[in-house]
Amino acid sequence: MKKLALALLVLLVAQPVLVSADPTTLTLYSSRKAHLIEPVLELYTQQTAVQFNLHTGKPGPLLERLDAAGKNGGADVLLTVDAGNLWHAAERGLLVPIDSEVLAQSVPPALRDPENHWFGFSRRARTLAYNTEKLSPDELSSYEDLADPKWRGRLCLRTSKKVYNQSLVATLIAHHGEEKAEEIVKGWVANLAAEPFSNDTKALQAVAMGRCDVTIVNNYYFGRLMRKEPNLKLALFWPNQDSQGVHVNVSGGGLLKISPNPGEAKAFLEWLAQPEAQGLFAELNLEYPVREDVPPASAVQAWGKFRGDSLNLVEAGRLQADAVRLMDRAGYR
Ligand code: FE
Repeated sequence: MKKLALALLVLLVAQPVLVSADPTTLTLYSSRKAHLIEPVLELYTQQTAVQFNLHTGKPGPLLERLDAAGKNGGADVLLTVDAGNLWHAAERGLLVPIDSEVLAQSVPPALRDPENHWFGFSRRARTLAYNTEKLSPDELSSYEDLADPKWRGRLCLRTSKKVYNQSLVATLIAHHGEEKAEEIVKGWVANLAAEPFSNDTKALQAVAMGRCDVTIVNNYYFGRLMRKEPNLKLALFWPNQDSQGVHVNVSGGGLLKISPNPGEAKAFLEWLAQPEAQGLFAELNLEYPVREDVPPASAVQAWGKFRGDSLNLVEAGRLQADAVRLMDRAGYR
């Protein structure tokens, strides 16, 4: 009898230890920076006990490392920025389609792969930023207008090597055809006030310093810079409100083919599309939730409302190689 009681006691004591000794751990490859994703992962761990093993890196090298990860215990989820990069991961066969009613209901069609390999989880606007001492907003109208000779020596741009600009030009091809898109990009190049900058922040600083009047940037770089230097004479402008809308892109993710935990990985991705995660995921990087029923953070709301382009972002991937060649022909470095 004593032995039985002892055995029962051991069982009772041992059981919780057994459960917590082997919680699910999901391995995430993310080109979204660690500090922009860790609070989201912590929230999921609090709610589900699922743990994370996070690997971060730049989008290209991250995909290379993923090719090798299959042999080293696998990886479950890819998170990366820009539909161009998500499209590449799908093209390389790294992602498996997710058949999910939850994701289909939560993520608008333009912001996910029509074949369900990837889904956007936050939206970023690639929009105009201008010097408020040199311009009034009614002088601005569209991406196309920045090719007009009236902007000669007044435009700054980030390098064409960045996927953000490749995606933007890909959407110009989708809307206008290659010939017209090339004319627009040639016009931009003719209007440059300086060699293209290596990043959005440098382009913004050039505008703030009055080296040029206007540039094209992702909204969150503007947000970060203004947080640090609130007195800069900079403002955002939402272009193309009478035409295709502002170019929106996503930060998003998908389920890796080599995942040893596809069920748990799918559950995590579905959770990312739910309101609480959506609010946090977007707010951490001053972005917009993909769900229209989740408002952006108040700092982001302060920049005003805009109509985004409803073109499916898969086009940004499909037309990326054409966009790169076009920018090369147009002399956009
Ligand atoms: Fe970025």
